[in-house]
Amino acid sequence: MLELRDIDVFYGNIQALHGVTLRVDQGEIITLIGANGAGKSTTLMAISGIIPPRRGSIRFENGEIAGLAADAIVKRGLCQVPEGRHIFPDLSVAENLDMGAFLRNDSRGIHADREMVYQMFPILARRRNQPGGTLSGGEQQMLAISRALMARPRLLLLDEPSMGLAPLVTRQIFDIIQTINKERHTTIFLVEQNANLALQVAHRGYVLENGRVVMQGQAAALRSDAALQKAYLGI
Ligand code: ATP
Repeated sequence: MLELRDIDVFYGNIQALHGVTLRVDQGEIITLIGANGAGKSTTLMAISGIIPPRRGSIRFENGEIAGLAADAIVKRGLCQVPEGRHIFPDLSVAENLDMGAFLRNDSRGIHADREMVYQMFPILARRRNQPGGTLSGGEQQMLAISRALMARPRLLLLDEPSMGLAPLVTRQIFDIIQTINKERHTTIFLVEQNANLALQVAHRGYVLENGRVVMQGQAAALRSDAALQKAYLGI
């Protein structure tokens, strides 16, 4: 569904990604793990068109998307939930959700998806008229994911959804990620520093170090890899 082949990404003269190659198949949850500064967010920004790669190809559903504008990429069904959530603090929960549907004009479908989101996150239904900025961190993360779902993405890109959240809330968010994958048949690319949790929900994973993929495989195999356990899982 998504294939990155040999991509190099630069910030000015500084090279952040070196020949990154990875693929996401339809129906999978793929996680990209790595330490601070490894290049995880940069990979996501390259995919979603915010920082185009200087070399290499990014194909989504058999079409080249490297070099396309970010909104053209969203239109193809690839939607990102950025790190730090970025909800609209002064808009209500319901208005934030509507912003996610701005490229759609099927009002019935939008209504049905709003109800689906409220079922998935009952707390958002209860707070639908409340400004987004007054929600807790976990609720804001739920809202950010829900807003992305309102675009009916075929591939959902999640950047560090556990960032700044208490362990119990994080667990809840990861359960929802699995539900979205199973019940909405949404393919998910999950960038996480919490490798332990990410490898529990993902099917496969890639490990990034200093802008290079240094390890990849089935999530269960990565979880039991001694070197990875030492470096990333704190075991
Ligand atoms: P984190 O979890 O801290 O966000 P990350 O794995 O997502 O880490 P990136 O944010 O992708 O890492 O950063 C990859 C590299 O690119 C780092 O060395 C970082 O310092 C560098 N970098 C990131 N943004 C910029 C920028 N705007 N200008 C210059 N260098 C940058």
